[in-house]
Amino acid sequence: MPRYICSQCGKEYDAITADGFCTNQPECEFGTGWLTEAGSAAKTAAGTPGLTPMGFENEAGLCVLMMDGSLSMGEPAFPDSDYPGTRYKLVAMNAAGGLWSLRSMTHQDAAYLALCVFAGEPRLILLESVEALFKKHNTPESLADTIQNMLEKQTPDARFTNINAAVQLAYDIKQAFIGGDLSAYGGPSGFKPVIHPVVRDGADGEEFIEIPNVRVLIYTDGEHNVTSAIKNPFAGDEQSVLITAFIGEQDAKGVGQMQNLACTCPKHAPATGFFLIDTPERVQTLRGIFRMASGASGFCAACLKVEQKTEPEAEGNSTVEESAESQTLEETAAEDSPPPA
Ligand SMILES: [Zn+2]
Ligand SMILES: [Zn+2]
Repeated sequence: MPRYICSQCGKEYDAITADGFCTNQPECEFGTGWLTEAGSAAKTAAGTPGLTPMGFENEAGLCVLMMDGSLSMGEPAFPDSDYPGTRYKLVAMNAAGGLWSLRSMTHQDAAYLALCVFAGEPRLILLESVEALFKKHNTPESLADTIQNMLEKQTPDARFTNINAAVQLAYDIKQAFIGGDLSAYGGPSGFKPVIHPVVRDGADGEEFIEIPNVRVLIYTDGEHNVTSAIKNPFAGDEQSVLITAFIGEQDAKGVGQMQNLACTCPKHAPATGFFLIDTPERVQTLRGIFRMASGASGFCAACLKVEQKTEPEAEGNSTVEESAESQTLEETAAEDSPPPA
């Protein structure tokens, strides 16, 4: 009888699990470990331990997740590896895992999440507080199932990929948040969005700008394939809050498109908020991006590294929120800089 080993936690199994992923939760972080045949030369997942929650002490924040649900997402996520899931499954597990790590943050009632799917056109599936989301789901598994179901069953026009329409809807929701009224999208109204003062290295030296506590994350595994050229409404903002990711090969056409859409990090410029997910070793990165966007805590790979470094020993250790090292990008940036003259 062959034995299997989890790529993440090393737990041994006599038989493969139903979906090929490790079931050793909570010790093994949900969605990050899968079973590889013992003795096979398969590489294990990157040695980075799981990410942990960021501090989050703001009145109102928003994350817009714009998720590609097109039919190609049903293909194996990493065909050249032993990763057992489709791209749908990859995204659902890591979106759920990333969101789940926000469970220890405070003010969950004021952190909003807009879950959208898109292919030929975008659709807002739900806009609610993180608190409400956690009330409906007691486990990351159930949240992952909900997200996967959304992607597979509720994506309109699943044969096409219209990046413009998706980015525009995300932008409109972001603008409504800044205006303090999300009622047109089924969300709250009459709230005050939190705005962080940040210093940024601009073309003419230091610039003092304001960044609203909102992030937009869009990913695709395809490319814009409707006739109009790609437009980026976020490019007109003082500071773009658009984080992008591509799931697939590095030389795919969609990579350049996502790269061009991504924001430039205000703290780590010229680093951008673009992430390539092309190997199973990037699974932790994918999860980290979902967490970073949901917690409105960063923009780029360097921001993500800071989060990973400040991680405490154990998952769910809420004292990280009090730790000076777990400051959000905005706080850190503000403190690093002299006050505006
Ligand atoms: Zn495991
Ligand atoms: Zn950064």
